Amino acid sequence: MIKSGYKYEEMSDVLGKSVKAIRGRVFDYYLTERLDKVRAYIDNGQFGDNLPDRKIKYKRFMSDEDKEKIKVLLSMLAGEIKCVAKENSNVESEYADFWQKEYCTHWDSVKGCTANEKDCDSCTSFNRIEPQFCKRCGITFYERKSNDICKDCRAARIKQAQRKYAILNQRRM
Ligand SMILES: [Zn+2]
Repeated sequence: MIKSGYKYEEMSDVLGKSVKAIRGRVFDYYLTERLDKVRAYIDNGQFGDNLPDRKIKYKRFMSDEDKEKIKVLLSMLAGEIKCVAKENSNVESEYADFWQKEYCTHWDSVKGCTANEKDCDSCTSFNRIEPQFCKRCGITFYERKSNDICKDCRAARIKQAQRKYAILNQRRM
């Protein structure tokens, strides 16, 4: 009906569904409700063909596979950004003499001391990092952020996902 130039109201009459529901369905697929644009996307295909790439803000309309792919890409990007931020930060050299910071929840490798203490020797805000247990491998690890699994297991999981999508993409080609 879209290809034949039906309007939403007409489709609603034929399908017995509300205009709102049809608009919603069209938007889920093509990220626009404008039927001329949708027609251009569909071209000679069927409804559901030639879908536009989904930006991250449309994550809710992605397939589970794409969502997983985005998650891997985002965590890679976050890692890169963290690396750059660390390189541009001078706090590691400023606090180089204070080994205690590595065990303190207030230490941030980019921002430095988040409790605003000048050094670890005169500090009264020290707060020891609590041990956490990896649900995947059972190891005890120390991290400021609460995590279900350890760093190594997170890296392994990302590698696994990357391999999976490399194989999936090969099949597609
Ligand atoms: Zn682990």
